[in-house]
Amino acid sequence: MQLLQQKIINEGTVLSDHVLKVDAFLNHQIDPQLMVEVGKEFARRFQNDRITKVLTIESSGIAPGLMAALELGVPVIFARKRKSLTLVNDLLTASVHSFTKNETSDISVSQKFLEPTDNVLIIDDFLANGQAALGLANIVELAGAKTAGIGIVIEKSFQDGGLLLRDKGFKVESLARIQSLQGGKVTFVEDLEVVR
Ligand code: 5GP
Repeated sequence: MQLLQQKIINEGTVLSDHVLKVDAFLNHQIDPQLMVEVGKEFARRFQNDRITKVLTIESSGIAPGLMAALELGVPVIFARKRKSLTLVNDLLTASVHSFTKNETSDISVSQKFLEPTDNVLIIDDFLANGQAALGLANIVELAGAKTAGIGIVIEKSFQDGGLLLRDKGFKVESLARIQSLQGGKVTFVEDLEVVR
């Protein structure tokens, strides 16, 4: 996705060889027009997968998840990271190790929003080691539903998540794939494919 790559180049900040900051358009301030395009692209890539629900995780997955759901014409559910007074009964819960925070915590979804007949599209902002997506897939499995695919806005291909999820047989679609952040420079997988 050319527009997304441009945004990453122009407005992203490489924090280290492993972490990209995109709080100017995705993780804090959000670019609505970019999110419209992100939603359209996810919908195009999963249009034949009979998606009935989008599942994402708070907070940075909500914007792309919502726009994908809007384009696909289905509801969006976001898994909660924090305990909530109103989220108490019949929870589906998975344990997730956070790459950015380096801590393990539970994520939860109310059972009533996922049916065994659901064909779920999982959406997240970043793919690093795949733990967030795997936790969401576990929740789908606990509901007896099916994960039809995983849509990622920015995949860091130099980390293990993409391989892990694809090895498990998931259809993973990433709108930008980063090969390297070394030396403060963003290199996309697609750039290297062009050079080869
Ligand atoms: P994973 O579970 O795949 O290891 O990591 C994915 C989660 O960690 C995403 O939900 C995202 O919030 C966060 N994350 C991973 N890598 C980055 C990164 O380079 N930048 C930002 N902003 N978040 C990241």
